[in-house]
Amino acid sequence: MKSHFISDSDFSKFVESLIRSVRVVAPVAKKTKFSFETLESVSDLRLDYDVTILPPKKAIMPVKQELVRFNGNSIESAISAQDQVLLGVHFYDVKAIDMLDELFSQGHKDYNWLAYRQHTTIIASNVQKVSNRAFFASVGQGVQAKGHDGFLTKVSGGYVFDAISPKAEALVKQGTFKDASPAQVTEAKVANEKVLKECPETLKHSTEAVQKKVREAFKKEELWKQFSDQCFSCGSCNIVCPTCYCFDVQDEWNLDGTSGKRCRTWDGCMLGEFAQVSLGGGHTENFREERHTRFRHRMMRKATYLNDKLNGPACVGCGRCSSSCVPDIADPVKIINKIMEA
Ligand code: SF4
Ligand code: SF4
Repeated sequence: MKSHFISDSDFSKFVESLIRSVRVVAPVAKKTKFSFETLESVSDLRLDYDVTILPPKKAIMPVKQELVRFNGNSIESAISAQDQVLLGVHFYDVKAIDMLDELFSQGHKDYNWLAYRQHTTIIASNVQKVSNRAFFASVGQGVQAKGHDGFLTKVSGGYVFDAISPKAEALVKQGTFKDASPAQVTEAKVANEKVLKECPETLKHSTEAVQKKVREAFKKEELWKQFSDQCFSCGSCNIVCPTCYCFDVQDEWNLDGTSGKRCRTWDGCMLGEFAQVSLGGGHTENFREERHTRFRHRMMRKATYLNDKLNGPACVGCGRCSSSCVPDIADPVKIINKIMEA
């Protein structure tokens, strides 16, 4: 890995030239919030964002994605991945993308994810402002972000850019970069360490202790009922989560009745009908019909079930679920700390 430096004015020129050569997806302002969007101009870029409404995984797996097109008995893949640069991803969202890389590569591979992921260069950037529900410093501390190609850190007068992969070194050739000085490297290191002390929320227990105790709490029905008492099953906590990856698949038919397309859309286990299956003959079975069982399932997924596959929890502490939950009952820190103290 090599550390480069680029001045603020040269960085703007670099991003403008990048936009002209490839699709760049980056954080932009949406009134008081932020969103990853295709960047039209460097003036829209907001690397000082706190957290985005939806996670950057949407650039790789859109909310709605065409999978195949069919016409009678003929069927063709709708994968058409083009090169893109995902710019300004915070380290916790890189960790989430790493998890999806892992999960979508196992067993029945998800070729859609893998195709779009392969065409994506990820340039991470340091957290300049911590969101008001974040706890990324205290969750999954043993898991390091690894899927990014480069890492930008804002320092005085410009950015230190750590080029990690050959893709990042290729980008360096497109801008006016020079070697970062030892003082600039130190300034970047200090900035990245400082932000870890600024999270407003803290998970007080180790990943292993949480995994064990949350699992043991599975049968405490009354506890889960208390937690979920005000839940109205909106699914927002799933939809905003960078590590949630469930989807629904539906066919959309054209008026000719023979052709159409098969699409997938993000789904969420907190929705009432998520676990409803057909028994045939017009009958159905919902194996998580009760609200508290869905609430419990979400926490089991985040804190226990996937830990062995991911070497850590399936939560990166972004705090999006906490901010998006109207009754404010989805916060993993509050739920887990309460279970740990019970
Ligand atoms: S569970 Fe909540 S805090 Fe954890 S990664 Fe998902 S949205 Fe972020
Ligand atoms: S966001 Fe809150 S109310 Fe909505 S499903 Fe999640 S826990 Fe329930």
